Amino acid sequence: MESLRITLEQSEIPTHWYNVVADLPTPPVPPLGADGKPVSAAQLAAIFPAAIIDQEMSAERWIAIPEQVREIYRLWRPSPLIRARRLEEMLGTPARIYYKYEGVSPAGSHKPNTAVAQAFYNQQAGIKRITTETGAGQWGCSMAFAGQMFGLEVRVYMVKVSFQQKPFRRSMMQTWGAEVFASPSAMTQTGRDLLASDPDNQGSLGIAISEAVEEAAARADTSYALGSVLNHVALHQTIIGQEAKKQFEKVGDWPDVIFAPCGGGSSFAGIAFPFVAENASGGRHGRPTRLVAVEPSSCPTLTRGAYAYDFGDASGFTPLMKMYTLGHDFMPPGIHAGGLRYHGDSPLVSQLYHEGLIEALAVGQLATFEAGVLFARAEGVIPAPESNHAIRAAIDEALRCKESGEAMTILVNLTGHGHFDMAAYDRYFAGQLEDFEYPAEAIRASLEHLPKVG
Ligand SMILES: *Cc1c(COP(=O)(O)O)cnc(C)c1O
Repeated sequence: MESLRITLEQSEIPTHWYNVVADLPTPPVPPLGADGKPVSAAQLAAIFPAAIIDQEMSAERWIAIPEQVREIYRLWRPSPLIRARRLEEMLGTPARIYYKYEGVSPAGSHKPNTAVAQAFYNQQAGIKRITTETGAGQWGCSMAFAGQMFGLEVRVYMVKVSFQQKPFRRSMMQTWGAEVFASPSAMTQTGRDLLASDPDNQGSLGIAISEAVEEAAARADTSYALGSVLNHVALHQTIIGQEAKKQFEKVGDWPDVIFAPCGGGSSFAGIAFPFVAENASGGRHGRPTRLVAVEPSSCPTLTRGAYAYDFGDASGFTPLMKMYTLGHDFMPPGIHAGGLRYHGDSPLVSQLYHEGLIEALAVGQLATFEAGVLFARAEGVIPAPESNHAIRAAIDEALRCKESGEAMTILVNLTGHGHFDMAAYDRYFAGQLEDFEYPAEAIRASLEHLPKVG
C-alpha cells in the first residue's frame, strides 16, 4: 500500500544548515548604518550575540547545527512530507501534490526552527534575557517556547490590537514562561512617548520592534531576536528544504515546482534555498525546480515593490537593508494573514528574485481562504491563513495541469496550522472578508519616502 506520510528517522535530521550566500551569482550588498556606511559586527553586538552576527555575515556554504539544537528539534522533527492524495482526487488533477507540514512544532509553525537556534546561541553567550516583538503571535510563541528550553527569560512586545484580539496566543506565551506586554507599553521610552500623545494607540509591528530593540540595546544581559527577514533566520529555516529533499529521494519523486507563503521570506527561504544550488547546476533530473514565493495582493512586496535600501521598521531604528519594499511607512490593511503584513522582504530572497532565480506571485484574500477550506475538507489539516496563500497557488497550478494533462510534482510549504486563527475563518464564512488590491498611487506615495542612499 502506498504510504501518504513520508517520514524520516530522527538520525536523518540534517547536521548542517545550508547558506545560499555561497551559491549566489553575485555577493550580497551589506546593510548600511545611519551614516551610510556598512554596518559593522561591533554595531550589531549591542543586540545580538557574536555567533548570530557571524552567521548573519557568513558566506560559508554549510554551517553545523549544534547538537543541543538538534536535540530540541527532535521533539517534532523531522516534520512529515505528506502526499495530498485526497486533494488531488477532489481537484481531478494528474499532478502529484505534496505538503511539508511544519504545523507539528509545539508553537504550531516553522518559526521554532530559528527560535531554538537563536535561544541556544544567546544562552552560550551568557545572555539571560531576550526581547522580541510579535504581531499575530506565532513568533512570540516560538521565542517563548525556545527561551524556556534554554532557561532564558523572554519578554514579548505584542502589538496592542493583537494582544486584545488573540488572547490565547498570549496565554500560550505565558504558559511557556514569557512576559507579554501590549505595545506600545510603558516599559520603554518609545512606548511612553507614544502613549503620552495617544493613550489609545493600537500599536504596530514597527512600534513593537522599536520597543524590543530599545530595551535590548540598553541592557548588557539582554539580546533582541527577530523571527524572519535576516540572513541567519533564513539559514536556520533551511532544515525544511533539506529534509524535503531526503523525503523526495526516499519516495522516488522530485518537485517540479515549490510554493511557499512569503511575508518576511523565512519559510520560503527555508524550503526553497536548498533547491537553488541544485538549480544552478541544471536541476536534479536535468530540470530546475521552479521556486515560487506567494504573497497577499494587499501587501505585494515582491510583485509590486521597489528593490532599494530601506529601513526594517516603521520608525527608522534599524539598519538599511537592500530589499524589495513597499516603503517603511507603508500601512498594510488589516488582512487576516498577520504574518504576511510586512513592508519589506528578506534581502536574500529579494536578491534571488531580482536576479531571476526565483518567482513570485500575489493572490487575493478570499481566494486563499477558499483554498484553505477546500484543503481542510480534503486533507484534514486546517492551515494557517498565511499557508493558505501557498495552497491557493498550488491548487491553481494543479488545475492548470488538469487542463494540460501534465503530471507534474508540486510541493507546498504548509508553514503552520490555523487553530488560533479560527476567528478569521469565521469572518470568511460570514462573508465579512474582502479582497484588497493595494492602490498603485498609495504604493508610489510610500516609495517616495525611501531613504536616499549613495
Ligand atoms: C510568520 C508566518 C509566515 C510568514 O513569515 P515568513 O518569514 O515569510 O515565513 C508564514 N506562515 C506562518 C504559519 C507564519 O507563522
